[in-house]
Amino acid sequence: RLYNEVQELKGNIRVYCRIRPFLPGQNKRSTTIDFIGENGELLIANPSKQGKDGHRMFKFNKVYSPAATQAEVFLDIQPLIRSVLDGYNVCIFAYGQTGSGKTYTMTGPNSVSKEYWGVNYRALNDLFDISRNRRSTFSYEVGVQMVEIYNEQVRDLLSNDGSQKRLGIWSTSQPNGLAVPEASMLSVKSTSDVLELMQIGQANRAVGSTALNERSSRSHSVLTVHVRGVELKTGSTLRGCLHLIDLAGSERVERSEATGDRLKEAMHINKSLSALGDVIFALAQKSPHVPYRNSKLTQVLQSSLGGQAKTLMFVQINPDVESFSETISTLKFAERVS
Ligand code: ADP
Ligand code: MG
Repeated sequence: RLYNEVQELKGNIRVYCRIRPFLPGQNKRSTTIDFIGENGELLIANPSKQGKDGHRMFKFNKVYSPAATQAEVFLDIQPLIRSVLDGYNVCIFAYGQTGSGKTYTMTGPNSVSKEYWGVNYRALNDLFDISRNRRSTFSYEVGVQMVEIYNEQVRDLLSNDGSQKRLGIWSTSQPNGLAVPEASMLSVKSTSDVLELMQIGQANRAVGSTALNERSSRSHSVLTVHVRGVELKTGSTLRGCLHLIDLAGSERVERSEATGDRLKEAMHINKSLSALGDVIFALAQKSPHVPYRNSKLTQVLQSSLGGQAKTLMFVQINPDVESFSETISTLKFAERVS
């Protein structure tokens, strides 16, 4: 059923909104979530504001309540992941302010328990499972790259010397060419290989930054899964590619509050997130001109955005009333591209 649902999609862009629960110790009464409809409606309200300013209705392809589990979320995107084995390119983003659950959705919390695995572990686990057990007419190879984009510079997160070398981006005129050919490509055969390399990636991400959290909220991390399938009978090959992207925090930084490095970071993040929004908007509008060249992020992802490629954006929301205006601005961004 789900597979057909994806096949029948008119556009190739979907937007799912996920609301994170209040964390232990937070005051549950101060929520901005007024109503979640069954068809993707979301009413946001600020209890301290009266009248029109205090309410806003949005509509997405789907809205997850704070109670949604990692397994439930994955079930909905599984068909997209599996289409990579048929040769599709797929991009899955998590967008939202820092603390809204982007990393929880994409990677999961710092817990080894499978139950809490995020999209990336589940996706790779599923690709291995399907390719081994259900596609016996093909032989598949899976390779993984992991890069970070920080201040408009692309860095390899899987190099074994932990080097922070800047990497170039190749012209992506070939649909299945590698966008960042210098980034280490690790061959993976099992989920434990994946767990291992994710640890290398996380460790490399911490290099040169005093607080890992700070750095990770100001850079985009892009995990790319390359799949190559050979049909055993005919020898013909197909390639598919899955990008799993934990974006930098979308919070607006006041010019007056930030100076020096902080201001520079904020400007780079702002530039790349609006470039991403412009690209997805142009694709949704079927515009003849898609402005890929305005940021490193959109250049890296170019061959997987547009054309036959499929795009899914998780819009992450912190329900706290203190985040009301950030939430509205996040949802407006998502509304524009959905
Ligand atoms: P971000 O990556 O957007 O900055 P995180 O993913 O780090 O945000 O989430 C912030 C905090 O909220 C973390 O402690 C995380 O474990 C928790 N959290 C986020 N989403 C959920 C969820 N759906 N269920 C339970 N805890 C969550
Ligand atoms: Mg994060």
